[in-house]
Amino acid sequence: MRAVIWTQGCSLSCPGCFNPQTHPTSGGGNIQVLDLFQRIVELGPAIEGITLSGGEPLQQRRELIEFLALIRAQTGLSVILFTGHTLDELEGMPDADRLLACVDVLIAGRYVAAARVAHGLRGSSNKSIQFLTPRYSLADLDRVPDAEVIIGPEGTIRISGMEPPHLRG
Ligand code: SF4
Repeated sequence: MRAVIWTQGCSLSCPGCFNPQTHPTSGGGNIQVLDLFQRIVELGPAIEGITLSGGEPLQQRRELIEFLALIRAQTGLSVILFTGHTLDELEGMPDADRLLACVDVLIAGRYVAAARVAHGLRGSSNKSIQFLTPRYSLADLDRVPDAEVIIGPEGTIRISGMEPPHLRG
């Protein structure tokens, strides 16, 4: 079980992106770094880690590093970070070392529709997976279900995942 944080805003424009509603910087909601950290801490042992996706998390890099440094220093939670940037691009950014020191698994690179795999947390096969600590392995990622369907008590249905099913009717 993980807490997933979708950051708002992405200017990378990968054709076929499944999440275009996250591209404008004007959507989503505002939250202070400390308030987000507190919300995560309050989940307690219900989660083993956090996952950051988007949108493009690195487009809020300063706040992201501040948040992840708190997670690293004050919790035992694992961190998986998705980015549309390649590892080379990330390493050229200011504070890249500080950021990478807070991450267990980095999944990096643009989504390329022609190389779609939608499995093991990779949207397309060009994306690289960096295991920056020994906490997880490729076998752990392979075990992640391709989709998740959550039916709420009022009958609401929420679908997410690498290969979400399409409901008809
Ligand atoms: S980096 Fe991610 S969110 Fe941004 S356009 Fe590409 S697939 Fe979509």
